[in-house]
Amino acid sequence: MVTIIGGGLAGCETAYQIAKEGIKVRIYEMKPEKFSPAHTNKNLAEIVCSNSFKSNLHTNACGLLKEELRLLDSLLIKCADETSVPAGQALAVDRENFSELVTKKIKENPNIEIINKEIKEIPEDSEIIVISTGPLTTEKLSEEIMKLTGVQGLHFYDAAAPIVEKETINMNIGFYGDRYGKGEACYINLPMNKEEYEKFWNELVNAEIVELHEFEKREIFEGCMPVEVMAKRGIDTLRFGPLKPVGFTDPRTNERPYAIVQLRQDNKEASIYNIVGFQTNLKFGEQKRVFSMIPGLENANFVKYGVMHRNTFINSPELLDETYNLKSNRNIYFAGQITGVEGYVESIASGMVVGKNIVNRIKDKTKIVFPETTMIGSLSKYIATPNDKFQPMNANFGIMPQLEEKIKDKKIKYEKLADRAIENLKNSLQK
Ligand SMILES: Cc1cc2nc3c(=O)[nH]c(=O)nc-3n(C[C@H](O)[C@H](O)[C@H](O)COP(=O)(O)OP(=O)(O)OC[C@H]3O[C@@H](n4cnc5c(N)ncnc54)[C@H](O)[C@@H]3O)c2cc1C
Repeated sequence: MVTIIGGGLAGCETAYQIAKEGIKVRIYEMKPEKFSPAHTNKNLAEIVCSNSFKSNLHTNACGLLKEELRLLDSLLIKCADETSVPAGQALAVDRENFSELVTKKIKENPNIEIINKEIKEIPEDSEIIVISTGPLTTEKLSEEIMKLTGVQGLHFYDAAAPIVEKETINMNIGFYGDRYGKGEACYINLPMNKEEYEKFWNELVNAEIVELHEFEKREIFEGCMPVEVMAKRGIDTLRFGPLKPVGFTDPRTNERPYAIVQLRQDNKEASIYNIVGFQTNLKFGEQKRVFSMIPGLENANFVKYGVMHRNTFINSPELLDETYNLKSNRNIYFAGQITGVEGYVESIASGMVVGKNIVNRIKDKTKIVFPETTMIGSLSKYIATPNDKFQPMNANFGIMPQLEEKIKDKKIKYEKLADRAIENLKNSLQK
């Protein structure tokens, strides 16, 4: 018997993958007995916000992930396809129909039992446990998880700066270096003159921000203030904060810049960089528009936008292996947003990996680690790779191993990466 705590997107995919192999599964879902601040309907696999599963295009990272999930017989993507509504190149669903259909499929499966109950302690009567309680895991269970992960191992808030693809940073403007030439010169620095800074500042303070849910509002801590809030304190506040230019000389002018934006390496391969101090509540479109005004980022590809929201997630690089299995207790798996994958489709993908691995484990077969050249494999790799600044990650081409040949045209490059992913996934399935 496998016990799954949380019947959301990840939990339902995991349950289906296990049950279809004839193995008994029990799902504990607290709804309708108790609802998180964002959940409102009684069904499983509730879509809490946007009804979009993002692009269906092969050349889009999330589109590729969905294509891979279809190849792997994902129940949730199948239900999304069946309940889709017109949305151009995106896969959008009728949210009620989607959750209802997933609930129906799970309920009619003779190997799955659903118990509507909030879990406050990790059950001891099950051989294998999957924790998939999502970004709004209840307080009591979070305390239990903390016992497994240690206090440092569980985060309740996500304050992440945007991440850009290194290849798309204009290095005719950007230069490597640390303040006063100290350290390893691992930052990429983007200098600004007075005019560029003032234009940027003006757009930043007037940009549109997202409306936060009541439960997401909290006091601002100085060390973790949204960049736009800091900017609104005065035109020079950023120049005395994260955009401080002291200790730098712009190699193009041999002078100290008026302000400097620093980018920090975000993965081992140095293919993606985050913008230091730019945690933000700006709308995604506004982030693209305003942050692209920073000299050097005019053509930057944003693989992840900045966010500041309630999000329970564990420190996966320390705690999990590439099958989302807890290293300190092999009977426990985590799946979904709580592992640090971010987004509906990414949560489903992690549920897929967990489900398939539990099946193999019960059948005494080897672990399934998808090739890192696939989107599903690169996400698993990302969450299990040492990273002392670990932040949740969505599907993007920046976390995949790059192609051997350098291709400038982004569309052609993504097409080749996507073709390679599908071919490698198909090959791995034949083994
Ligand atoms: C407010 C908000 C908006 C979001 N908007 C988007 C978006 O627009 N697009 C996007 O791609 N992603 C979005 N996300 C991120 C994320 O993709 C979704 O939260 C996604 O639903 C995560 O899937 P999951 O299976 O990990 O968790 P969930 O789908 O949240 O499922 C977790 C389930 O566990 C249950 N549960 C929790 N605690 C317990 C317990 N102790 N015992 C029993 N059951 C429990 C919950 O009731 C829930 O049904 C959003 C997240 C939040 C919080």
